[in-house]
Formats: sequence, structure tokens, C-alpha cells
Amino acid sequence: MATFVKLSTKAKMPIVGLGTWRSPPDKVKEAVKAAIDAGYRHIDCAYVYQNENEVGEGIQEKIKEKAVKREDLFIVSKLWATFFEKSLVKKCFQKTLSDLKLDYLDLYLIHWPQGFQSGNVFLPTDDQGNILTSKYTFLDAWEVECHPYLTQEKLIQYCHSKGITVTAYSPLGSPDRPQAKPGDPVILEIPKIKEIAAKHKKTAAQVLIRFHIQRNVAVIPKSVTPSRIEENIQVFDFQLSDEEMATILSFNKNWRACGLFAASHSEDFPFHAEY
Ligand code: NDP
Repeated sequence: MATFVKLSTKAKMPIVGLGTWRSPPDKVKEAVKAAIDAGYRHIDCAYVYQNENEVGEGIQEKIKEKAVKREDLFIVSKLWATFFEKSLVKKCFQKTLSDLKLDYLDLYLIHWPQGFQSGNVFLPTDDQGNILTSKYTFLDAWEVECHPYLTQEKLIQYCHSKGITVTAYSPLGSPDRPQAKPGDPVILEIPKIKEIAAKHKKTAAQVLIRFHIQRNVAVIPKSVTPSRIEENIQVFDFQLSDEEMATILSFNKNWRACGLFAASHSEDFPFHAEY
């Protein structure tokens, strides 16, 4: 089973990465270090998560210890919407780069891209004109929410048909999301997922993560708990059957944990459509 997904540039993105949204600055450095020790080589960051400085400290400590080399890591970050103006794009990119203490990113995404104008794309370069993102390509990779209640079948099929890599965010249903309401579905508690997990002597989280791997979709579970960080990458020693995959896909109800509901009246609101 693949441990990477390939971007159209031929860059290899490790199929399991560490999410860092809401990872508190005083915990995320240790989380990054635990993740690298557990075998993660892909870390999902963003300017707006306000913890890239501490993520960068964790990465640097592991590089200094020679636990990992920079080129073994696949670091993703994102341009936040308040920097979509052409004159600001580079500023956001450089702030991220300096906070992460890196001299290039492996992938730079446009965070919540509605409203972004393609003319504002730039190729970040250093003073000598060398391109600072090693694998930067517009429309090469998308991050979308994906889990059993939002299986994104059409979107994933469309992306893969165009050579666009898909990464699943909120794969565990984002139980600590700030917008959670009483009565919302709890993906980690779906009885049938727990039943499948028990059959494989795995946890519900591992089944939820494995589900993406078997669809050739990268997946970035967030945790700041070392035991969970390790658990979430122990997903390469079992296989969900075709029947189990079909059962999980049948749970779809187009339910979003991160629906950007505050923007639902905007004409650019992306989530009215089927996909
Ligand atoms: P997840 O679905 O990854 O859920 C994270 C939550 O699950 C945390 O509360 C974590 O707790 C808990 N958890 C982690 N592992 C386990 C486990 N094995 N068993 C039980 N609970 C567990 O939610 P996110 O919304 O954070 O999505 C993942 C990542 O995707 C983000 O962190 C971010 O990097 C990215 N993302 C990108 C978006 C975009 O717009 N491009 C939007 C949303 C997310 P704890 O940390 O306490 O262990």
C-alpha cells in the first residue's frame, strides 16, 4: 500500500501527515517532535494557526539531533485570506518561512481560496532568484474535509482525473473544533466504525485514517497527545476489505464539521453545491 501520494510535479507527499490547527503553541513543539519520532514526515501548517514558530522549533530540534533531514520532510503551509492582495502574498509566505525556520516549503496552499484571484499567484524567490517552494504548482493539490459523513466521492474522482492530489482534513470529525454544537455527529463514535476497528484489533481513529489511504487520499489527523500521534500512523499493517470500504462510503450524508457557516450568505460561499 502506498505510503506517498504523488503530486503532478512528481513530488512525493507522505500519505499521513500531522495536523496542527488548534495545537496550542506550548504543546505543538513536543507534538511535532513526537510525530517525527513516530515516523511522520509530513506536517500540515498554516499562518492562521498561530503556532508556526513553535512547529518550526520542533522541526529544527529534530534536524539538529540528526533524527531527520530537511529533505526527508514534507512541510505544507497556507496563505491566509487577509493576504490575498497581490502586494501582501509574499509577506505572508515569508512570515511562515521565517517562523518555521525553513528556507523552502514543499507545498503552499491558498487557505479557503474563494475570492483569491489567480493573477496574485507568485513564485517565491530568494535574492538570487531561486524558487523557494520546491514543488509549487497552482491547482496541484487540494485539502478538503473528508470522513465517513462527507465522503467527497465526486470531488475526489474529479481531482484524481485531473492529476490533483487530495488531502483529507478533519478525518476524525474534528471533535475539538470551536464551532461544535450539542447533538452534532461524533465520527469517532460511529458504532459500525468501532465494530470494523474491533475486527481488525485497531482503534476507530485508525480505521478512519486507513479509509483515506485506501482511496489514495492523504490524511492529516491532528493530535497533541503523543500516544495518539503514534496510534494515528500505525495504519500500514492492516487492510480494510472492499466490503468495509463500501460500508464506510455508504454513511455519507454531506455533513461538514468545518462548514464556514458564518460565510454562508457570501456569493462566493463554496459549500452550497453538491461538491
Ligand atoms: P481531526 O479530525 O484531525 O481531529 C482532531 C481531534 O481529534 C483532536 O481533538 C485530537 O485530540 C483528537 N484525536 C486525535 N487523534 C485521536 C485518536 N487517535 N483518538 C481519539 N481522538 C483523537 O481534526 P482537525 O479539524 O484538526 O483536522 C486535521 C488537520 O487538518 C488540522 O489540524 C489542520 O492541519 C487541517 N485542516 C485544514 C483545513 C483547511 O482549511 N485547509 C481546515 C481544517 C483542518 P488531541 O489533540 O487532544 O489528542
